[in-house]
Amino acid sequence: MRRRLKDGETGLVLLPEPREWGSLADVEAYAHSCIDICGPEGWRMQWDRAVRRLGCCKIHQRVISISRYFAESYLHRDPELIRRTVLHELAHALAWEYYRERNHGEAWHHFCCQLGIPDERSVCKCEDFSPAERRREPLFALCNKETGEVYRYYYRSPRITPRKLSRCYIPGQKTATYGKLQIVDLRPPAPSSLPESESER
Ligand SMILES: [Zn+2]
Repeated sequence: MRRRLKDGETGLVLLPEPREWGSLADVEAYAHSCIDICGPEGWRMQWDRAVRRLGCCKIHQRVISISRYFAESYLHRDPELIRRTVLHELAHALAWEYYRERNHGEAWHHFCCQLGIPDERSVCKCEDFSPAERRREPLFALCNKETGEVYRYYYRSPRITPRKLSRCYIPGQKTATYGKLQIVDLRPPAPSSLPESESER
């Protein structure tokens, strides 16, 4: 049964205007002002050393953690990607504080909408990510429909039909994954639907 979200803060929150970032300190200031404006109380942003994902949300420490390596790599090339990652993790923080939801579920999506990123996807941010210098960008991912957890990436279109996939599971995780797998398309949307600022993504 799908849980209904409680009524709460509705409508878009007014976030600080993203401006040109000259250094990681600017990103940090942006993240902290977002937290100040719409984040749950007591949360903060910190850097980490991850190279396989962009950010994560540490609910017990009340921390939104962003990969320093990733932020340095994309600071000038794709600031929009960094901005969205900050908001993606902030949505996790809000989903946890208000609804005790840990994954990319309904509450997380609800807050993504409020933060102005309604089309945000669950993969590529928290689960696994390699900067382009390190690895080719995967085109598809095998995920859990319910939790958003990623099990593997594909660099070409996977040859598996939805029908067959519905009878597959991850070895050792049958209960959690049987009939719950899906292939997610990671390719960027067609250029016509891209906002200008995302054209390089
Ligand atoms: Zn996430």
